[in-house]
Amino acid sequence: MKVQPRPWLTGLAPYVPGVHAVDDDGSLASNESSLGASAAVADAVAKAVADVHRYPDPLATELRDALAEEHGVASEQVLVGNGSDELIFLLAWAFAAHGGRVLCADPAYRLDEISAVVSGAEPVKVPLTGWRHDLETMAGIEADLAYVVNPHNPTGTVRSHDDIARFVRTCRARIPVVDEAYVDFADDPEESTAMGLAAAGEAVVLRTFSKVHGLAGLRLGYLVADAGVVSVLEGIRAPFSVGRLTQAAGLAALHDRDHRARVRAHTRAYRDRLAEAFSSAGYEVVPSQANFILVLTSDEPALAAHLARHGVSVRPGAALGIPGAVRVSVPTEEGLRRVHHALRR
Ligand SMILES: *Cc1c(COP(=O)(O)O)cnc(C)c1O
Repeated sequence: MKVQPRPWLTGLAPYVPGVHAVDDDGSLASNESSLGASAAVADAVAKAVADVHRYPDPLATELRDALAEEHGVASEQVLVGNGSDELIFLLAWAFAAHGGRVLCADPAYRLDEISAVVSGAEPVKVPLTGWRHDLETMAGIEADLAYVVNPHNPTGTVRSHDDIARFVRTCRARIPVVDEAYVDFADDPEESTAMGLAAAGEAVVLRTFSKVHGLAGLRLGYLVADAGVVSVLEGIRAPFSVGRLTQAAGLAALHDRDHRARVRAHTRAYRDRLAEAFSSAGYEVVPSQANFILVLTSDEPALAAHLARHGVSVRPGAALGIPGAVRVSVPTEEGLRRVHHALRR
């Protein structure tokens, strides 16, 4: 069938997902947890299977209450979604669709931009300075939504809590959104987070179970915001977007604090070793507080192809709006051994 999509969709560059290597150890393209999920997740999912013939709880009440308690906010301030990606689309539809403006960094997390275009809003992109968000310039720009990804993807850089708070309080955007997908891996997650601003209803904070909790394949994220914002989003969402198995897995993952601490510790230690491997091979590496590093290279396709020949898949920067770089996720011990081996050739 030859059909044209709506005119505002024609210029949209599609999302290009990372490619998996032949095994887990070499799959460093998508910032997945190299240590996997908590063992408690498999048990919880196995138990929940008995009820898969029943629709899930639309609001994931048990998980929502647990998250509210974790962050010291009211349950009405929490919304659980099918990955934070669903929540990013809901924000665009509710607050920017049909002619609004969505402010983000350049390069941005691709979904912030894609959700804007799809909903008929205009993405406005402000180049990074020194690989970090230029919050001072962004604050002066009028917009309906403003995204700050902290730590940022694809650079791994952070802005301080004070800088974020100043941005949230002075920005001309109606709704500042702080995406904290990687906050667990920051030097000081408690100091870095904007959760206090979300609790006070001054900003929206996005979190995901895809990174530190290792549930990328189940699709689970949430946001914390003013109860009024949550209520608008509740009213437009697909009611059963978060399945039973996913809700059960999320609760189990949230309760396994030891696993989370292990993943954090592994990520910080191996991030340094990964960066060291590339810098001693002569590459410049952007200092990262996430579970990946950005490696600068004059020949991105050649570096990606060379690593691929040694069983390591990485994300080419061109797919992330940052040509001349590759993004490499923090590996396992075996994955790191393979990177070393490849870089010695
Ligand atoms: C990985 C990532 C997410 C997580 O998205 P999910 O849909 O929850 O898997 C959100 N934001 C950023 C910036 C990310 O890199």
